[in-house]
Amino acid sequence: MMSSNDLAYIDENLRIIRERCTEAMAKYRSPDDKLRIMAVTKTVAPEAVNHAIELGIDLLGENRVQEYLSKAEAYDRSAEVQFIGHLQTNKVKYIINAVSMIQSVDSIKLGQEISRLAVKNGRVMDILCEVNIGGEDSKSGVAPTELKQLIDELSELEGVRVRGLMTIPPPSDSDIFLGQMKELYDSIASVYKGMDTLSMGMTHDYAEAVKYGSNLVRIGTGLFGARDYSK
Ligand SMILES: *Cc1c(COP(=O)(O)O)cnc(C)c1O
Repeated sequence: MMSSNDLAYIDENLRIIRERCTEAMAKYRSPDDKLRIMAVTKTVAPEAVNHAIELGIDLLGENRVQEYLSKAEAYDRSAEVQFIGHLQTNKVKYIINAVSMIQSVDSIKLGQEISRLAVKNGRVMDILCEVNIGGEDSKSGVAPTELKQLIDELSELEGVRVRGLMTIPPPSDSDIFLGQMKELYDSIASVYKGMDTLSMGMTHDYAEAVKYGSNLVRIGTGLFGARDYSK
């Protein structure tokens, strides 16, 4: 069992993250703007996740269906959980009642399955469209040029509500890509009702992402330390 002493590095990491976020918000954003800090939990032990929740983290990001299901029971239930990883259509059924938002929708096929299961379960699922802003082959996400069409199609579906955009920009030149995402989000939000979420910014670029209008930063390494995939 880990003690809270062993987990004290999380206190310090979170203090730094909050400080940098507060600074960036003060410098670049209007006083009414809100920012949520999501703790990204992949490979992280439930004890560490719960410690972050004790420190005030109220939003968790899950990447992998199996890992989430195996850890969910051990989580403090007070935090909201959103799905942020690549999601296969045949796995939507496992998370439809276990998350409050799916941030990683990049195809109408995935949207249709979320819609079907949301309706079946008598709920509405909030979703974000994941945008492949850098046009990288290695990454999921819809191309910026196809985004409007995808949102048009998703907007027709019952049981889903498109709330905004999510992206993982290329690690280099993130300035340029974060700026492009801001433009894209602003243009989308001016056309479609109910858009209120721009999810971007990870450990290496969250302060910059705040500068470019993010209102949800997703932080793993910066909070919990380097991931150990061997576990
Ligand atoms: C892992 C992950 C993060 C967090 O990345 P860090 O660099 O560890 O902060 C954020 N978003 C998504 C979608 C991720 O998969």
